[in-house]
Amino acid sequence: MDTEFDQKHIWHPYTNLTNPTQTYPVESADGVYLYLTGGKQLIDGMSSWWSCIHGYNHPVLNQAISDQLNIMSHVMFGGLTHEPAIKLSKQLLAITDDSLDAVFFADSGSVAVEVAMKMAAQYCFEQGLTEKTQFLTFAKGYHGDTFGAMSVCDPVTGMHHKFSRLLNQHIFVQSPQCGFSQDWEEDYIKEFETQIIHNHEQIIAVILEPIVQGAGCMNFYSPEYLKRVRALCDQYNVLLIFDEIATGFGRTGQMFAYEHANVVPDIMCLGKSLTGGYMTLSAVLCNRKIVDGMDTNFMHGPTFMANPLACAVALASIQLLLSGDWQNKVKQIETQLKDELKPNDKNPLVKDVRVLGAIGVIELHRPLNWAVFQDKMVSQGIWVRPFMNLIYLMPPFIIEAEQLTHITSTITQLLNQEITC
Ligand SMILES: *Cc1c(COP(=O)(O)O)cnc(C)c1O
Repeated sequence: MDTEFDQKHIWHPYTNLTNPTQTYPVESADGVYLYLTGGKQLIDGMSSWWSCIHGYNHPVLNQAISDQLNIMSHVMFGGLTHEPAIKLSKQLLAITDDSLDAVFFADSGSVAVEVAMKMAAQYCFEQGLTEKTQFLTFAKGYHGDTFGAMSVCDPVTGMHHKFSRLLNQHIFVQSPQCGFSQDWEEDYIKEFETQIIHNHEQIIAVILEPIVQGAGCMNFYSPEYLKRVRALCDQYNVLLIFDEIATGFGRTGQMFAYEHANVVPDIMCLGKSLTGGYMTLSAVLCNRKIVDGMDTNFMHGPTFMANPLACAVALASIQLLLSGDWQNKVKQIETQLKDELKPNDKNPLVKDVRVLGAIGVIELHRPLNWAVFQDKMVSQGIWVRPFMNLIYLMPPFIIEAEQLTHITSTITQLLNQEITC
C-alpha cells in the first residue's frame, strides 16, 4: 500500500498534512478484527467510531447490500420513491416512540443535525415565532463538523473553537453534573431552568445528546435531567431535539438513550450505527406537531437522499439487531467492562472510570502521549483511539469475553507502566 502517498496527499480526520500522524494500513476486516498489511490482526475496541455494532464483513449485511445492488444502487429521491426507503422508514417508526411519525433521510450525522436545526427553525418561523433565533445546549457537547452543528458543539474546549468567529452564537449551560446513577438534586437543573425562563422567547429548540455526551467529554448523566428538560420545554414552548447519532441502536443498554428517561423529543437524529457501519446514512425523525406545523416546503434535499443501498443495509442491520439477544449481549459487555476497568481507579493517573451499556471510559487527570500508547496497543493486537484525557471503548456487540479482556488488561498494564516510568 502506498502509505507514503497517503501521508503526503490525503487528509485524515482532524489532522494536517505538514506534520502527518501515523496511519495504519488496513487490508480487510472481519468480525471483530481489522487485518493490517503484513498480517497483523487487531481486535477493534471502537466499532469504527460507534458504527459497526455487528462487526465487519457480516454475511447478512453483505447479502442485503449485494441483493440491492443487483436491483438498483441509486435513484434521485426528488419525485421518485422506492421500497428500501419505505421499508426502512416503517422499521424506524416501529422501533421508536409512537409519537415520532415522519422521517427525513440525509447522508451523515452532521447533516442530520443541520436538518434537525433547520426543521425546528422553519417550524417556529411558520408559527410566526420569528424572534426565535437561538438554540440552547450543553457545554462539552459534540454534534458534528458542519457550520450549524459546530455552532452547538462546545465553544471553548470543542474541536471547532478555531471557527468560533464565523458561528452563530447560541446559549450554553454547564454540562450535566449529575452522574447516570447519582441521586438527583434540584440544583442540577437550576442553570438550565434559568436560561429557559429568561430566554425562551429567543430559543428555537434545545438540542442535546441524551444520557451520554460523546466525543465532547464522554459524560454519562442522570435520566432525571432529561425529564426536567422535557417538562421545561413543554412549559415554555421550546422544541426539543435529541441527537442519538452515537447512542442509538442499543449502545447504552436501551435501543435509544431517551428510553432511560422515558421522555421523547420532538425531533431526533440517527446516524453512525444506523447501517451497521456499512455506509454513510442518517435519518431525522419528528412528530406530528412538526409535520402539521409546516405548510410550506421544507428546504433541504441532498443529492443522495435515501440512497437505496444504504437504506437496504440499514434495514438489514436493524432486523439483525432485533432478531438477536442484543440486550443481554450489551449487559454482558457492561458487566465485564465494570469488573475489568474499575480496578484502574487505584491508578494515580486515573480521575474516573465509568461504564454504561457497551461504553467504557477511563478519564485521566491529563492526556498521555496517545501516539505512543496507540502504537503499544497495536503491537498487542488492539485498536483503540484515545483523545484528550479519555481512553474509551465501545466494541462491536459481537465481541467475545476473552477478546474484551485482552483489551482491558492491556490498557491496565500500559497505565501501570506509565506511572512507573
Ligand atoms: C458522530 C456524531 C455526529 C456527527 O456525525 P458524522 O456522521 O460524523 O457527521 C453528530 N452527533 C453525535 C452525537 C455524534 O457522535
